[in-house]
Amino acid sequence: MDNRKPYQLVSREWKSENTVFDINGVKVGESLLMIAGPCAVENEEQIFTISEFLSKLGVRFLRGGAYKPRTSPYSFQGLKTEGLVMMRNAADKYGLSVVTEIMSADKIDELCEYADVLQVGTRNMQNYPLLRSLSKIDKPILLKRGMSSTVEEWLLAAEYLLSGGNHKIILCERGIRTFETATRNTLDLSAVALVKALSHLPVIVDPSQATGVRDLVPSMSVAAIAAGADGIIVEVHNQPEEALSDGDQSLYLDQFEKMLPPLRKAGAIHQRTFDFDLPRVPVEA
Ligand code: PEP
Ligand code: MN
Repeated sequence: MDNRKPYQLVSREWKSENTVFDINGVKVGESLLMIAGPCAVENEEQIFTISEFLSKLGVRFLRGGAYKPRTSPYSFQGLKTEGLVMMRNAADKYGLSVVTEIMSADKIDELCEYADVLQVGTRNMQNYPLLRSLSKIDKPILLKRGMSSTVEEWLLAAEYLLSGGNHKIILCERGIRTFETATRNTLDLSAVALVKALSHLPVIVDPSQATGVRDLVPSMSVAAIAAGADGIIVEVHNQPEEALSDGDQSLYLDQFEKMLPPLRKAGAIHQRTFDFDLPRVPVEA
C-alpha cells in the first residue's frame, strides 16, 4: 500500500498508463466518447426518433433514464421496466449501446439485462452498499461526481468499485454546488484536468446537468474536450419544450448536430478523435 494517498487502485502511482477498455467496439479511454439522448425515456416515439437521429450522425451511445432520481416525489419518476424495454429496442434497431441510471442494488439484474453501461448518479456517489454491489459485476460503470463531493471523495468512491474487482469505470464531472445560482451547478473543469493527472481512469463531462441551460452546452462541451476530458454525456431531445424532465438543458437535434465539428477540432488539440467518427458496421433492420 502507498500511504501517501487515501486511494490506491485508482491512482496514477498504481497504474501509470491510461485505462482503456472496450464497450461494443469502442475503446473507452482512447476514442473520445459521445453519449447522447434524453434525460428520461418518455415514450416510444421519442426514444426511437432520437435514436434514429443520433445513429445517423454515427453516435454509439444512447443515454436515457428509466429510473429517475427526482428531487420531488411528485415529479415524473421514469417509465421503469417499460422504459428499459423501449430503450433497448430502439438501441438495437439503430446499433447503439445503452447508458442508464441505477439507483439501488435490487435493480442490478434487471438493468444488466437491458443496459451496456450503468450510471451512478450524483445523489448516489456515496451510496457505499450500492458501490460495493456494483464492484462485483462485469458491467462498465459511469460514476458521476457527487454534487457536493471533493475530488478525493469522488476518487475514493471509484476506489470502492476497483477494490471489489470492477475496473471498467468512467468518471463523470457533472457540476458541483457553489454560491452561484445563475447556472444549475458550477462546471468544475479544473477537476477534469486534475483527475486526469491523479488517476488512470477515463473522465468525461456532463455539460447538461452542469449548466442547466441548453445554450451553454455546446461551448462547455468543447471546453471539456479542450481541457482533456475523454468524452461527454449530453442531453438531447426531439421536443425539449415537451420533455418530462430537464427540457431547459436538453439540446435541440439541430443544435446537437452543429456542435460536432467544433468538438472534432477540440479533440484535435490532443490528437484525438471521437467514437462517432469510427467506421460503422451497418445494423440489420
Ligand atoms: C441525469 O443524467 O439525468 C442525472 C440525473 O444526472 P446527475 O446524477 O448528474 O444529476
Ligand atoms: Mn437529466
